[in-house]
Amino acid sequence: MSKYIAETLITESEIKAMVERLGAQLNHDYAGKQVVIIGVLRGSVVFMSDLIRQLDFPVEIDFISVSSYQGTKSTGVVKIVKDTDHDVTGKHVILVEDIVDTGLTLNYLRELFTDRGPASLRVCSAFDKPDCRQVAVAVEYVGQAIPNAFVVGYGLDYQQRYRNLPYLAVLGDDGKEGQDE
Ligand code: 5GP
Repeated sequence: MSKYIAETLITESEIKAMVERLGAQLNHDYAGKQVVIIGVLRGSVVFMSDLIRQLDFPVEIDFISVSSYQGTKSTGVVKIVKDTDHDVTGKHVILVEDIVDTGLTLNYLRELFTDRGPASLRVCSAFDKPDCRQVAVAVEYVGQAIPNAFVVGYGLDYQQRYRNLPYLAVLGDDGKEGQDE
């Protein structure tokens, strides 16, 4: 698969250190609290499964699926495809994202969950592209800020592929064309 990759941006061992650092921060900030961790499908799945295994307090997990992207461009329209099952009222909610780009998805999700009356709401994103923001949105925990490029791997896809790469990469042109191999 590496023949499709133009550049590795963040290596597997750098990601491991990043997740350990975020886990230590969450262990410090949420000790003794009733926490629900909500992953935003599908991109956050790999990161979330690594992150929750760093946590030394009991957590509930849930998922929400929203659509806001077609191909490599944001449509700016966010729609719920699958909602969470848990009642988050009075609980400490941590939204787990793969990457924040324009901020439109997160802005929508923050408003959605704020209206559900959690004890607190914070966001933990593996990656962040701060130069791409169209709306200002708070991201309390960021693994790694990256430049403005379309990235794949560690849960992130290009047309549903490459999520299984254990590192974060920029696709080469071959990777965008080689869909049938
Ligand atoms: P936003 O609403 O902040 O523009 O984008 C949110 C979602 O778009 C992310 O959760 C992610 O699924 C997708 N996205 C944004 N940038 C990238 C990227 O560089 N690569 C991939 N594969 N997905 C991205």
